[in-house]
Amino acid sequence: MSDVGDCLFCKIIAGEIPSKKVYEDDSTYAFADIQPKAKVHVLIVPKRHYATVAELAQNDPAELSHIVGVAKSIADDAFHGAYRLVFNTGEDAGQSVFHVHAHVLTGEVLAE
Ligand code: C5P
Repeated sequence: MSDVGDCLFCKIIAGEIPSKKVYEDDSTYAFADIQPKAKVHVLIVPKRHYATVAELAQNDPAELSHIVGVAKSIADDAFHGAYRLVFNTGEDAGQSVFHVHAHVLTGEVLAE
């Protein structure tokens, strides 16, 4: 389902690169960020490869909505449903991996 060239996150989804799995279903994979920016920092990715959140929204809005639901459920478990959801989009906004991923930051009170 997900194998686009040299994509790092496609390799993580395929299990070719190790990750600390937090959640998985048929369409979606979530794992702990290796450089956490909060007490709980999870990346949620669609198994199908899209480069950006805009591309995902255009091609598979149901999957985008599903990712938002997975984020909520992670934060419900980690920190009474309080969380920050970030999609860095474009190199100049800090996107370094061009397989869309939601950063879920939770587990503690977050600075503004
Ligand atoms: O939004 P951005 O593209 O910069 O986010 C990529 C994220 O992927 C970073 O937070 C980085 O720590 C994470 N990462 C990871 N495991 C890897 C490579 C990167 O969790 N093997």
